[in-house]
Amino acid sequence: MIQSVWEREGARAPIVLPRGMLARYELLQADLLSLYDIHVRRWRSSMSGAAWEEHDADGTITRVIDTPRPRGPMSAAIFCHEVGHHAIGFDRYKPRCLEEYHAWAWSLGTLAAWDVTISDRVRARVHESLEYAVAKGLRRGLKRLPDELVPFLSELGCASDNPG
Ligand SMILES: [Zn+2]
Repeated sequence: MIQSVWEREGARAPIVLPRGMLARYELLQADLLSLYDIHVRRWRSSMSGAAWEEHDADGTITRVIDTPRPRGPMSAAIFCHEVGHHAIGFDRYKPRCLEEYHAWAWSLGTLAAWDVTISDRVRARVHESLEYAVAKGLRRGLKRLPDELVPFLSELGCASDNPG
């Protein structure tokens, strides 16, 4: 389901992918940062990230992320999720949990296009992250949950900590 969303947005990967996974992760990192003109403020050692825009007084917008270096399935998924926020734009999807959904969809679609393994741990992380985003939205008074997010309604109604 998540992948089909990305396919509508147009998957992109080099025609010839490096065979070695480390080389592939390095190319993924360089290619996406250059394509979307994104600056990494901090390479995190933890499996968490953040994406934001910095607006200068003269109107210049700088795209920034904190992220782990893509070196395995989980770090690559988080890296692509943060890039995805910039690729889809910060004003395109409301509420915030729907933006999270599309950033993950973008991430999984990009990993698939690059033929990078999407592990069960990554899928579980995506699910937990969206459960958390939905619970947070509901706690903050979200009135109508977008249909895409119904599968991520947590049975407990809230998630206790932020998986990212
Ligand atoms: Zn996010």
